[in-house]
Amino acid sequence: MKKVYIETYGCQMNEYDTELVRSVLVKDGYQIVERELEADIIMLNTCSVRDNANRKVYNRIHTLRHFHNGDPVMIGVLGCMATNFRQNLLNDKNLKLDFVVGPDSYKRLPQLIKEVQNTGKSAYDVTLSEFEDYADVYPHRQGGINAWIAVMRGCNNFCTFCVVPYTRGRERSRSPRNIIQEAKRLAEEGFKQVTLLGQNVNSYHYEEKDFAYLLQKVSQIDGIQRIRFTSPHPKDFPHDLLHVVAGNPKVCKHIHLPLQAGNTRVLNLMNRTYSKEDYLTLVDDIRDHYPEMIITTDIIVGFPTESDSEFEDTIDIMEKVQFDSAFIFKYSERKGTIAARRHPDDVPEATKTHRIVRLNELQNEISLQKNRRHVGEFQEVLIEQESTRKSPHDFQGRNDGNKIVIFPKADYRKGDFVRVQITDATPNVLKGKIANEEFAA
Ligand code: SAM
Ligand code: SF4
Repeated sequence: MKKVYIETYGCQMNEYDTELVRSVLVKDGYQIVERELEADIIMLNTCSVRDNANRKVYNRIHTLRHFHNGDPVMIGVLGCMATNFRQNLLNDKNLKLDFVVGPDSYKRLPQLIKEVQNTGKSAYDVTLSEFEDYADVYPHRQGGINAWIAVMRGCNNFCTFCVVPYTRGRERSRSPRNIIQEAKRLAEEGFKQVTLLGQNVNSYHYEEKDFAYLLQKVSQIDGIQRIRFTSPHPKDFPHDLLHVVAGNPKVCKHIHLPLQAGNTRVLNLMNRTYSKEDYLTLVDDIRDHYPEMIITTDIIVGFPTESDSEFEDTIDIMEKVQFDSAFIFKYSERKGTIAARRHPDDVPEATKTHRIVRLNELQNEISLQKNRRHVGEFQEVLIEQESTRKSPHDFQGRNDGNKIVIFPKADYRKGDFVRVQITDATPNVLKGKIANEEFAA
């Protein structure tokens, strides 16, 4: 039996894909191991969204090759880097990769590994498919509290900075029936929370069924107590979806709404197809439906030609919206994207650094203020693990709004819902204590 070790980089979609890969391999007789040293085959499931993600993987392959020099271990690259950099990866003699496999070819992994074993040559398949949705592969999850479910794959949006449409191909939605079957099985296995994944869940459609329909259907499954989803695109947030999020008690009151930039000219260059005003109107609309909705975002600073005054629009939107948290990135030019072809990466690194520092400082202040408002509240928390931040005497879980809550342990276990009174807050976490009665078993 061959032993496989898989490392996952990047987004939740990659986490999910690793579970698909595990499933394909286990079905073919492979054993999944948790330590690289036990493995005959090492796979890196990679991300290509920013250059630092790429570099991390190159460094890791070099370290692995160096460490295993002369060992009969196979090393392969999966995921977005496979599609984007197949040629470079295979031509780099120092890496000596055995296989390179893109996101739509995981079912062929056992065959490709055999090919390498039989021929002694490296193998690859980075073909993108319009149809592959892995509906027939049940992900091999390793326990946990939350289960990811990809409801769609690929993306048709072509935001000019983004490599995803090239590395993951065209958008395709899985059938609601298939998704609901997966969610029911998860509930039977004891998962209490599912997160529905797609690059733009608003554009989910299968025949005449849309994402709002899907959320409603998943919420009818006994045992599933919390449903999260990521991400919707601000350009086409449907009203009926907003009604479901605001009104359905199982759907968490958290919307991740990637802004990317505050200035309308820059948004146009990014092909985001909404303006600063459209975004602010959407946020007002969300808050009209549900005033306490937790709203988080992604922002890119230093997109080509973004001027100092245009950057001030991003500050302005952050001050107006008061996001609960934000992932803020420096623009990273990606080979093959529309921006890389049309717009030279002309914002100096020092300017990008200055802007990211300013935004992070501002967001920290806002997050702290927002988190402090929760002090004194009683919240329902789903326990995820021992606290990684404080001590083994504490539990860490998440509230409905996806905020991390840390509290001293009591006689509960991972996966329990508990009632916690919030006693303190930092920009990143809430702290609290268990309030006697339990919410649900
Ligand atoms: N589909 C999701 C969406 O539209 O929100 C996001 C997918 S992407 C994997 C996650 C985030 O990475 C984006 O929201 C964006 O902020 C950031 N990102 C994507 N391409 C980037 C680039 N070239 N440079 C810097 N950040 C980038
Ligand atoms: Fe990339 Fe835009 Fe698609 Fe998100 S919506 S994956 S940012 S192209």
